[in-house]
Amino acid sequence: MTKVIIAGAAGRMGRRIGYMVNEHPELQVAAGFERPENPDVGKDMGELGGYGANGVKVAHDLEAVIDQGDVIIDFTFHEATMKIARQAAQKNRAMVIGTTGLSQENLQELAELCKNFPCVQAPNMAVGVNVLFKLAAKVASILGNDYDMEIVEAHHRMKKDAPSGTAMKLGEMMAQAVGRNLDEDGVFARHGIIGERTDKEIGIQTIRGGDIVGEHTVYFAGAGERLELTHRAHSRDNFARGASLAAAWVVKQPNGLYNMFDVLGLQDL
Ligand code: NAD
Repeated sequence: MTKVIIAGAAGRMGRRIGYMVNEHPELQVAAGFERPENPDVGKDMGELGGYGANGVKVAHDLEAVIDQGDVIIDFTFHEATMKIARQAAQKNRAMVIGTTGLSQENLQELAELCKNFPCVQAPNMAVGVNVLFKLAAKVASILGNDYDMEIVEAHHRMKKDAPSGTAMKLGEMMAQAVGRNLDEDGVFARHGIIGERTDKEIGIQTIRGGDIVGEHTVYFAGAGERLELTHRAHSRDNFARGASLAAAWVVKQPNGLYNMFDVLGLQDL
């Protein structure tokens, strides 16, 4: 059995990950930790995750539990993630990172750290979304120079980063497919008399409200028609299941930085 440590164990994702890890035949919830000030520190992980008391208590930091597991699944906050990754690198623990909002600098540091441990990092671990990434890039390579490319994403009111990591990744893959650069061609807000849309820009717009789990639509709008590709997450379970698949997979890999295309065998699509 692969022993899993859950970072952010009492968070919305952390709880569902505990549930899915517990369901996975090769995985076991070995430990979990939270910010020291989190009121759920000391509580039973199985009770928090709704899969029955298992006697594993939420710890107050990684240091206290790092020797109890083979792989750390992290859905926390980007600053916390980088600290955890540095500890994982020191101890050669495998890691699955679902936390979004990592900067280019963070990703560069992570790539360097991953010389010392195997790690899957992906802004969206849902199987359907990873298929959408590939489809969006493929359609962009066919239509992207003649059609206007736009992305709209919607999430719950508690989400802290915008646009979503998924929307950014969609934008990057679509830009790359037509030889553009999202840093130069991404348009993240429109307001007032802004003039006509340019051909090159890729718009990414954000909706925040209520308890929307996560929706992404990619538009290819041309003269007289448009093509839309939409993914809707109905619950967090698809992300948590993807994270569990990644944890079972990454412990068998050599050191290095991987993504969900590697886990799902979609790399060459
Ligand atoms: P949340 O706020 O409910 O949970 C985050 C948890 O991390 C909290 O309980 C918080 O106390 C804990 N935390 C923060 N700093 C910590 C630290 N230093 N040590 C230990 N625990 C710490 O948020 P959430 O909705 O569960 O989302 C968490 C992250 O996962 C976000 O970045 C979100 O965008 C991302 N996410 C990714 C995917 C994916 O598929 N990759 C899917 C959903 C959410």
